[in-house]
Amino acid sequence: MSKVHVKKDDQVFVLTGKETGKTGKVLRVDPDKGRVLVEGVNVVKKHKKPRGRNQQGGIIEQEAPVDASNVMLVCSKCKRPSKTGRKFLENGEKVRFCKACGEIIDTIRQART
Ligand SMILES: [Zn+2]
Repeated sequence: MSKVHVKKDDQVFVLTGKETGKTGKVLRVDPDKGRVLVEGVNVVKKHKKPRGRNQQGGIIEQEAPVDASNVMLVCSKCKRPSKTGRKFLENGEKVRFCKACGEIIDTIRQART
């Protein structure tokens, strides 16, 4: 089970570092390293070698992963960067919810049938 509190396609808010205050969409999560790749955040320039006849070399810009603890989920309901919690519903479903407004964000595990 991943300890990372955000998932792919989550909208997140950057808490620390030079990108503080930025928001972006999670492109990729690396649960083993606890790192996330966020669209438009921590963009680094990379030198690219020419490959083949039709591809030019040059500098490309690409996101580098940031530590998952540096980002916070932006709640789709209250639009605020919020802490998330996990809880079980009465039907046994496990969900992720926003601690600010209480809204259920998504289902982690379906109810047993
Ligand atoms: Zn909320």
